[in-house]
Amino acid sequence: EAYLAAIERANPVLNAYIVVTGDKARDMAKASDAKLAKGEGGALEGIPLGIKDLFATEGIHTQACSHVLDGFKPRYESTVTTNLWADGAVMLGKLNMDEFAMGSSNETSYYGPVINPWRRSRVDTVVMPTTHQGDGGFVSAGGTKTQRSLDNAQLVPGGSSGGSASAVAAFLCAGATATDTGGSIRQPAAFTGTVGIKPTYGRCSRWGVVAFASSLDQAGPIARDVRDAAILLKSMASVDPKDTTSVDRPVPDYEAAIGKPIKGMKVGIPKEYRVDGMPQDIEALWQKGIAWLKDAGAEIVDISLPHTRYALPAYYIVAPAEASSNLARYDGVRYGLRVPGKDIIDMYEKTRAAGFGREVKRRIMIGTYVLSAGYYDAYYLQAQKVRTLIKRDFENVFAAGVDVILTPATPSAAFGIADEDMASDPVKMYLNDIFTVTVNMAGLPGISVPAGLDGKGLPLGLQLIGRPFDEETLFQTAHVIE
Ligand code: GLN
Repeated sequence: EAYLAAIERANPVLNAYIVVTGDKARDMAKASDAKLAKGEGGALEGIPLGIKDLFATEGIHTQACSHVLDGFKPRYESTVTTNLWADGAVMLGKLNMDEFAMGSSNETSYYGPVINPWRRSRVDTVVMPTTHQGDGGFVSAGGTKTQRSLDNAQLVPGGSSGGSASAVAAFLCAGATATDTGGSIRQPAAFTGTVGIKPTYGRCSRWGVVAFASSLDQAGPIARDVRDAAILLKSMASVDPKDTTSVDRPVPDYEAAIGKPIKGMKVGIPKEYRVDGMPQDIEALWQKGIAWLKDAGAEIVDISLPHTRYALPAYYIVAPAEASSNLARYDGVRYGLRVPGKDIIDMYEKTRAAGFGREVKRRIMIGTYVLSAGYYDAYYLQAQKVRTLIKRDFENVFAAGVDVILTPATPSAAFGIADEDMASDPVKMYLNDIFTVTVNMAGLPGISVPAGLDGKGLPLGLQLIGRPFDEETLFQTAHVIE
């Protein structure tokens, strides 16, 4: 009830939830109460969560925040959410996101942008999300008349899991599911002062998660602290016969890694992440992170990941290529929207023209282009080769004994809604992913942990990158930073 009341008050401003499943939440909570009264219950019994709209939820709105999936209510449940419900979690509703998870600002959603609860006022003071007050009392950072007049100060929560990050930061859920194809868990976590982990590719099942770029997509949690993220990931992760890319390895007790000393751990600092024009605040944060880990007994080593600068261009070939193929299924026949036409081709065209937003169309065009005969070798094949080189860079560093790599999570703090620079130039928007996409290209786990504030008082995150399936080291190290 406390969370539902908080959502009712704050959501008109934040637009983090697109559907609130109050009745379902109450039913699930009652069932949890009954279990807990008998001394039973799972690891997440009664814990209220928000679910990104990319996850299929049986009988409940699942549209990847696209118009083309209008009215789609799946008859099945994603494996990740099935795992969460099996452990007793309670569903509060579906969370806003960039359409088909394409974006870095949560402005491409069919349901409108999500607002970051962190705000920079005109006089450059920051209004922080207030803490949850237990009785369901929640005072939104926006929502009052005075604050509405400061709309020009509204910031994006990052994307594509902007609804998840905003909801967690504003205490509109205890934790949320999210997905990360090129940074969509870690970048919004960094922009909202929350913790987000993209596990190793294959750690969570992709079954029932609307596909964007299948070889890069991974689910993971956004949570308020490292411990919560560890508990949530343990529940979300599993091998799944319905997703042959999920991996059959025991899921460790991630929580047990928290608090373990990092003395003697080798932390790599990649020189290629010191990009041109990196703001002073980001550089300073990185140095602070290095100092904290050193103080805790870690050994800091300079490393080189020479192919880093090719990661972003290669990602923006591989991801749109896979997306153009995955999105071919939205044809007006199988799911959602249908705009009638004079024949079937005309119906396809009208449905897709009306159903997809601008960014999605841009990705489909790029993807179709790079996969077309004559260009395939020059772009797609080349990008796949680059991907192998990026993966090898990491393998070499880990083989040399580095346990974890520390980098900034993003090249800036949260920026303003409808930022003119980014709106006029999609490549500027794509640059947000510069520190995160390498991790997806290599299939590695990466966590973003809040590490400080910029000069305007906005949260900034540091990223830790680990060996395949070594999420434990990420939790262990991130806890030292948080
Ligand atoms: N911002 C990146 C993109 O638009 C990553 C999105 C994601 O991780 N889903 O492709």
